Amino acid sequence: MDGIGKLMRFRPLLSKNALSCFRHARGVGTAAATEARDILDKELDGIREAGTWKTERVIVSKQAPSIRVEGQGSSILNFCANNYLGLSSHPEVIEAGKMALETHGSGVSSTRFICGTIDLHKELEQKIARFHGREDAILYASCFDANAGIFEVLLGPEDAVISDELNHASIIDGIRLCKAKRMRYKHRDMADLETQLKDASSCRMKLVVTDGVFSMDGNVTPLPEICALANQHNAMVFIDECHGTGFFGPTGRGTEEYFGMEGCSDIINSTLGKALGGAAGGYTAGPQQLVELLRQRSRPYLFSNALPPAVVACASKALDLIIANDDLNKKVLSNTKQFRAKMQDAGFTVGGDPAHPICPVMLGDARLASAFADQMLERGIYVIGFSFPVVPTGKARIRVQLSAAHTEQEVDRAVDAFVDIGRKLNVIS
Ligand SMILES: *Cc1c(COP(=O)(O)O)cnc(C)c1O
Repeated sequence: MDGIGKLMRFRPLLSKNALSCFRHARGVGTAAATEARDILDKELDGIREAGTWKTERVIVSKQAPSIRVEGQGSSILNFCANNYLGLSSHPEVIEAGKMALETHGSGVSSTRFICGTIDLHKELEQKIARFHGREDAILYASCFDANAGIFEVLLGPEDAVISDELNHASIIDGIRLCKAKRMRYKHRDMADLETQLKDASSCRMKLVVTDGVFSMDGNVTPLPEICALANQHNAMVFIDECHGTGFFGPTGRGTEEYFGMEGCSDIINSTLGKALGGAAGGYTAGPQQLVELLRQRSRPYLFSNALPPAVVACASKALDLIIANDDLNKKVLSNTKQFRAKMQDAGFTVGGDPAHPICPVMLGDARLASAFADQMLERGIYVIGFSFPVVPTGKARIRVQLSAAHTEQEVDRAVDAFVDIGRKLNVIS
């Protein structure tokens, strides 16, 4: 088979776009790929029938509180981005990215250890380490990569990793790759964590792993209890702060600061793709030896291209803005309180922590959640229904996320739309 023939053969397995290219080219490719296409079609039909099909709406503007969506005439208020501080369209962040593009070009065309480390990477790593009060930090292309890379490097067969059962998919995948004894505790269940810690007592290193804030429910990990148990049982604590970094806690240091326990965990993984400008990138912040070892051994770090200069510069500027003042931080919290209070008054069940901008509006049925979200869009409010497999069956919801960039009036407009549609669909009376 020639090169193009090989490419065509694997196309259907690559992506939806590639698959549609392939459809146009029926008659090209192997018999095996034709069989595979039928198998995949059945799988796809199953997803549609279950009502859990996820369509991607196309945005044709910056990510901001007010966006333009393809097929929608007027602008739409966005209530489902992780743009907690509104920094992904902040003029200073954009300007910093442009400057870096000028000075350092579009990218480094290399992994970090070959010829892909630039001054901007080193500066941002130092800034992140200082922000979290840690010895050192290492950048990745995403937090997914940071989570995929860390456990295999840190833990061997003589060690144990004890993970909350509802931790993010990237943590689950990362743990799958490591050779340590893998243990799970029931979601936020400290009695179960203690049982697991006792079971792991003979292991060399023990690592308790938790999301700081669980993104589907918007609830916070019981960090004080986790750290107390970890201390008692000589275990380390790892926290994934993707939904905390930059905006949660009085100065945006995340879950530790929310509890007034800065420095209580040993390793922080987080993302630059949410509150910190929203471009891309992730990191590990922690002990210097761990960061050094990750640079030597972590596979997503070693075998993937370094973060592009503009992306690094945007995140760096976002962090500067967060460190300089806490106005945005206060604004996202007041928007959150406003939304939660008004929705609860109207009779909706809103899950999550009262202080966290993730507000899951619980609806139950997957189809209801999806129909509700569609009608919200018709009212100019962009929110998304979440259903299985992202959340358990029967626990579908619309997850609203507030941003510091929303005005009070915009938050009210969202609540008004929820109330009208909620009455129409008999969710509230
Ligand atoms: C978003 C998220 C990630 C992935 O971060 P990316 O930088 O987008 O790869 C990992 N963990 C948690 C808890 C997240 O919410």
